[in-house]
Amino acid sequence: MSCTKEHIFDSARDGKLVARALIDTDTMPQEEAFFDTLNPFDNSVIGQVQRCDTRHVNAAVEVARSCFESGDWSRLSPSERKIIMQRWAALVEQHSEELAALDCVDGGKPISECLATDIPESIQTLSWYAEAIDKLFGKVAPTGCDTLAMIVKEPVGVVAAILPWNFPALMFVWKVAPALVAGNSVIVKPAEQTSLSAYRLVQLAYEAGIPAGALSLVTGFGEEVGHPLGLHQDIDMASFTGSTEVGRLFLGYAAQSNLKGIVLECGGKSPQVIFQDAYALEEIADDILSAAFWNMGENCSCGSRLIVHRTIKDELLSVLKARLASWKVGNPQDPDVSIGPMVEQVHFDKVCSHLENAKAEGARLVWGGRLLEDGAGMCIEPTIFDDVTPQMTLFQEEVFGPVLAVTCFDSEEEAIALANDTDYGLAASLYTADVRRAHRVSRAIRAGTVSVNCFSEGDISTPFGGYKQSGFGGRDNGAEAFEQYVETKTIWYAN
Ligand code: NAD
Repeated sequence: MSCTKEHIFDSARDGKLVARALIDTDTMPQEEAFFDTLNPFDNSVIGQVQRCDTRHVNAAVEVARSCFESGDWSRLSPSERKIIMQRWAALVEQHSEELAALDCVDGGKPISECLATDIPESIQTLSWYAEAIDKLFGKVAPTGCDTLAMIVKEPVGVVAAILPWNFPALMFVWKVAPALVAGNSVIVKPAEQTSLSAYRLVQLAYEAGIPAGALSLVTGFGEEVGHPLGLHQDIDMASFTGSTEVGRLFLGYAAQSNLKGIVLECGGKSPQVIFQDAYALEEIADDILSAAFWNMGENCSCGSRLIVHRTIKDELLSVLKARLASWKVGNPQDPDVSIGPMVEQVHFDKVCSHLENAKAEGARLVWGGRLLEDGAGMCIEPTIFDDVTPQMTLFQEEVFGPVLAVTCFDSEEEAIALANDTDYGLAASLYTADVRRAHRVSRAIRAGTVSVNCFSEGDISTPFGGYKQSGFGGRDNGAEAFEQYVETKTIWYAN
């Protein structure tokens, strides 16, 4: 049965929400440990999450392997898998409000965003991959007449999906939809801060008819669950989204174990480059603000560096500040709130230390920077620092909070150099009315997605991922995502 958002908010208030492992086995240890999951706005306990460990990981891998070998899912025809995935998408749609409310209470995400963006895009992702899978063809190689060489794609086997906390439901389907529909058995590990929607999504998958062995959930901490998944000898591939620091560990896990395939989607420090010939600043202001502050800046593609031509900087900052005055900061359950709390205390403290450090290094605070006065929540106002130089930490390090760093340029070459002066390369935006400049600069910026005269991550049809230390080994989204989850086989016939 689907719940209303009020029902979820009430259950959260009563501390009654739950997420636990979903593994199709009756051999699991009886004693179970749980930890509290908190509402980041008031730090109240909203429910309990099972604290899995290596035993659960081993059980999940065994079940996943056995399901894969049985063919119950892996050898269904693509059109059969499609129908079941479509049923899942329809169930997720029926439970939209419930899933939106779970991500709101668990991650501190504004309910309006969860309802308008996260869950609709999650449904679209499930449907898109369901629809795509029976339209992919293999190849016949151009060999001589006396041979036939077919190049076919096959599921890799057992896939682990390790997720971050910033878009809990959406990151779940970005990984699971292409991996599962391609015929793999998938084991999902949500972030420990945000496991509630993952639990419901897997339950809905079972209701839709996905065999339990083909999709397992293991909840818990990175060291206790992510680590054994990374090192497991019988996992064929791990797809990770999270920090560059932990992503790096996964490459080590693969090297130390079975050379499993690794795909990483990691952090970013994305530039927004505004040329002096940009369209009317009033028209582009909302996109600039959305890039910087959407989801409290807890967004891997956050446009956290505003690189603006010196002659228009003051005017642009005035427009941005005027718009920001109407952004409401506070309880994410309030439909008018656009900036909720940081996801947890440790992260809040980290973002606050970036604010202090920026001032100490000489950046000039021109907007925001305050915390909520009544002490509720761990909310930080949208904040803008001007006079940020490339040597400053704020220019180089991912803050993952609502903090925009402003830097000026005088020439196109300088703008490109500033945009590329980062270890990251996930996304970028540029604003200019000159189509030739747009073409030149979009080619010169080293980033996985460059949006022109707007802020966008593309949509489900376009690949998403990073250059440099923003990613490794593949892309999420689009037909390209399938490449992560399939092996290529040559079948050679000769007379
Ligand atoms: P994180 O790296 O702390 O955690 C991500 C996942 O890894 C979690 O499930 C966590 O439990 C697990 N993990 C943590 N330590 C581990 C270890 N030692 N071994 C194995 N697993 C471990 O990241 P986060 O704080 O949840 O997410 C924020 C980061 O994610 C940001 O850097 C952000 O830029 C990035 N991100 C990237 C994308 C993208 O598509 N490129 C999308 C969303 C978020």
